[in-house]
Amino acid sequence: MTGTSGYEVLVIGGGPAGASAAALLAEQGHRVLVLERERFPRYHVGESLLPFTYQPLARLGLIEKMRRSPFVKKYSVQFVAPSGRASQPFYFHTRYDRETVAQTWQVLRSEFDLMLLNHARQRGVEVREETEVLEFLREGERVVGVRARTRGGEDREYRARMTLDCSGRESFAAVRNGWRVKDPRLNKVAVWTYYEGAKRDEGIDAGATTVAFIPEKGWFWYIPLHGDRVSVGVVAEGKYLSRGGVKAPEAIFQRELGENLWIKEHLAAGRQVGPHYLTSEYSYHVRHCGSEGLLLVGDAFCFLDPVFSSGLMLALKSGVMAADAVHEGLVAGDLAPERFAGYAATLRQGIENMRKLVYAFYNSNFSFRTLTDKYPELAGDITDCLSGDVNKDFTRLWAAIGEFAEVPEALPYGGPLSGRALAVEV
Ligand SMILES: Cc1cc2nc3c(=O)[nH]c(=O)nc-3n(C[C@H](O)[C@H](O)[C@H](O)COP(=O)(O)OP(=O)(O)OC[C@H]3O[C@@H](n4cnc5c(N)ncnc54)[C@H](O)[C@@H]3O)c2cc1C
Repeated sequence: MTGTSGYEVLVIGGGPAGASAAALLAEQGHRVLVLERERFPRYHVGESLLPFTYQPLARLGLIEKMRRSPFVKKYSVQFVAPSGRASQPFYFHTRYDRETVAQTWQVLRSEFDLMLLNHARQRGVEVREETEVLEFLREGERVVGVRARTRGGEDREYRARMTLDCSGRESFAAVRNGWRVKDPRLNKVAVWTYYEGAKRDEGIDAGATTVAFIPEKGWFWYIPLHGDRVSVGVVAEGKYLSRGGVKAPEAIFQRELGENLWIKEHLAAGRQVGPHYLTSEYSYHVRHCGSEGLLLVGDAFCFLDPVFSSGLMLALKSGVMAADAVHEGLVAGDLAPERFAGYAATLRQGIENMRKLVYAFYNSNFSFRTLTDKYPELAGDITDCLSGDVNKDFTRLWAAIGEFAEVPEALPYGGPLSGRALAVEV
């Protein structure tokens, strides 16, 4: 087996979390290697950005590129009842600066992720695609690199001072370390596909995300993409979607279309393209953000139900935060796990805030309308959280929501596992 060393940072996975962390670390002069299993461009679900993705994209220097890109501009979100009646769209410019946060994008992930990975390359990151990480290399409890299989089937060892796990929902490290914990409540199933030529709303609403309700607190997403494509999926409890013994994704999808008239009508003019996809029981947390020589970023750290499209914002934000924390550790010559406690706490705070809102969304006693009818002064807080400004103090909001729905306690997860604690836990 051959080996390569001399890297400061090794990144497992070249998705948004990995590419953003890698780019910023290379910008600081560190030698960074990304190992990515696929060859980009590759397919990925998760196409709708939140307004507060602006900050990490700005930090990466990518706003101008996004503005020049063909990605559909998203100015608003709307909610639609099963009858087809749409709420007044919520326009981001009613609260945010028109030049920055008030407009975001709907992205085709194959193109968006390739843009991010190429940006990392341009910043000096070495990227090896079609290279699958198989296991960690350890010295004692410290992660010192990985063993990976190259495109040609050769096993190689790569060593670095720090390894970032950005492997997405595979959560490479958490699965192997037994750190992955299911969310107690958020166990939904999603079935989705794509349409061409489906109906779009007019003008500024053409790029809106639509969340369209079906019974049992299920919902459709409708995300207009460029190239006349629409991403459309349905999310609900598994037992609801598979009622009557229906199991095939296509059959589930076609049946649920009839449950929301807006979705049915918008898709009627279009043509379904490509496969129907299915994923199940997908919200999870991890016990630790990392240990000696290891840090988890993006979906590898946590995955939340996609109802409020928080995944990419959290992946990019955590990529930026991880890069800053690792850079500081490299400069200080100290990469002890404890250094990453602040990273984990900030990330968990944001996740917990979003999670509280997701729990409320699925509670049958709750609706945004009833809440704002009673507490109109809280509309701004709701908007901020929904837009991805998640590291704010929302105490008043949670107290008010608590009158209608269960507000979950913060989960006691995410802190780093220090060398000493690791020895005890093992
Ligand atoms: C049904 C659904 C709908 C969603 N909708 C939205 C949405 O509308 N908006 C939104 O913001 N988010 C959405 N998301 C979430 C979003 O897709 C993720 O949050 C986002 O992709 C996370 O980025 P990441 O870089 O952490 O992981 P990923 O984008 O998954 O990237 C991880 C990379 O690691 C690579 N990899 C994995 N294992 C290995 C290995 N062993 N060796 C080498 N490489 C490896 C993978 O090939 C992949 O390229 C949705 C998710 C789902 C499931």
